[in-house]
Amino acid sequence: MRVLCVAQQKGGVCKTTTALSLSAAWAEAGRRVLMVDVDPQANLTRNIVEYEGLESDISQVYSGARSLGSIVVPTGREGLYLAPARTSLSRVENLERSLKTYTALRRELPRLDGSYDLAVVDTPPSLGLFTVSALLAATHVLVPVQPTFFCQEGLGDLNQTIAEAREENSGLVSVRYFMALFDRRTVISQEIASLIRDRLGASLLSATIRRSVAVEESQYAQKTIFDYAPRSTGAQDYRALAKEVTAWLASS
Ligand code: ADP
Ligand code: MG
Repeated sequence: MRVLCVAQQKGGVCKTTTALSLSAAWAEAGRRVLMVDVDPQANLTRNIVEYEGLESDISQVYSGARSLGSIVVPTGREGLYLAPARTSLSRVENLERSLKTYTALRRELPRLDGSYDLAVVDTPPSLGLFTVSALLAATHVLVPVQPTFFCQEGLGDLNQTIAEAREENSGLVSVRYFMALFDRRTVISQEIASLIRDRLGASLLSATIRRSVAVEESQYAQKTIFDYAPRSTGAQDYRALAKEVTAWLASS
């Protein structure tokens, strides 16, 4: 099973939106997709299921009390499933730091191999326990890069963490980046975008996610961008990204 981890230690760069939109696109194309929320903010979970009604969550998988398979809930969409997070997940990070916690996803995900075609892990805006645990389980890592002045510095730390995860996880085959929240109208973002292109070369996907009000609105309406505004630039951009990521996952 391919395990795609969406990671970047900066917040607000559309990790969660990307995890949800790509998963929804693949489920719509007939694949069985497991989304795994390992962010204590639980944004992905709140976006797609009724948070208050949840009876279990991923913190129980980290603590070893439950299997990953046993906490998965349906999302009401065909082929789309979720291993939910709740805010109590932050307690795991404070209390437990054993090796077992770091390797929880790596142990649990392969057990679901026959049940899903692919897993998509949404991570918090940090390089801490949860992101590392996702990188240790991932086969592919997808990194949104917002073309801002400071984005380059953060990428160095992320790449270092990915390199360290690779030493422990030989299954981590490939890393790709894409530009997110790109504003073509400003000269400065054009210039920074061109620096990023030079630096990342072939590992930068050509699909770019533009700012789209419909994306923000869709989150508020608790719908995917494809359901909320299928003709919006947001939906178009995510369709293009899904196509490119599908080809990447198939080729490596
Ligand atoms: P992260 O998970 O990296 O913190 P989110 O996916 O939660 O980022 O996105 C952060 C905010 O930006 C959210 O309010 C979301 O609705 C908004 N957003 C995400 N993608 C877009 C987009 N393409 N255009 C406009 N707003 C977006
Ligand atoms: Mg998020």
